[in-house]
Amino acid sequence: MKFAPSLATLFFCTHALAVTPGTNWEYSGETGPENWAKLTPEFNACSGKNQSPVNLDGFVEAELEPLMVSYAAGASEVVNSGHTVQVAYKPGSTLTLDGKTFQLIQFHFHMPSENQIKGQSYPLEGHLVHADEAGNLAVVALMFKEGEQNPVLAKLWDSLPAEGDTQPIPTAVNIRDMLPADLDYYRFSGSLTTPPCSEGVRWLVLKQPVVASSAQIQALTDAVGEANNRPLQPVNARVILQ
Ligand SMILES: [Zn+2]
Repeated sequence: MKFAPSLATLFFCTHALAVTPGTNWEYSGETGPENWAKLTPEFNACSGKNQSPVNLDGFVEAELEPLMVSYAAGASEVVNSGHTVQVAYKPGSTLTLDGKTFQLIQFHFHMPSENQIKGQSYPLEGHLVHADEAGNLAVVALMFKEGEQNPVLAKLWDSLPAEGDTQPIPTAVNIRDMLPADLDYYRFSGSLTTPPCSEGVRWLVLKQPVVASSAQIQALTDAVGEANNRPLQPVNARVILQ
């Protein structure tokens, strides 16, 4: 059966809640990634064949449609869930893909990157999480390399909320301003990278990285308190399109 989460489930899946209910999981130790699938039957998908993240390589040439995003200024608040730093987004920003409209719901960060590109890891990866009316998910992933201060990140917060806390975004921020000039992307079918690891997620990984300063990357890492990247998962029978 196809996984079609309710919006409530969706928010839980994508760790929007400051205090995550249900089964506890972590990025290390006994409740770490190697054991996620065994923690509860609800996390069974974590041992599936189409899991994220992956090392993007061995590409299959394809005529991928241009990335069609229509984003408005809508960043509303930032939450430190303890597993990630996540920015909630107001309705009205969309990604059009496969003839469907996906609403941008939130974006969040992994330090270091979860996906790799031809074996290369990045110090920071952003995930822009979208859902269509049926609850299908599409994630646009954005790599950051270390460099100058990122002006969009600088507008989102002066200092990050403590674990479990939420704070408003002080100014209007359009996440479109954080995307690179070149929107070429790799595409594959994957999963949520956190429990319940639900599959059937459309993944679009932008080829061109953007920059953030070492201080900005360190502040995100300090806020979460540990590396929050799930280890690479086998590609198995999937193809990665470019
Ligand atoms: Zn993520």
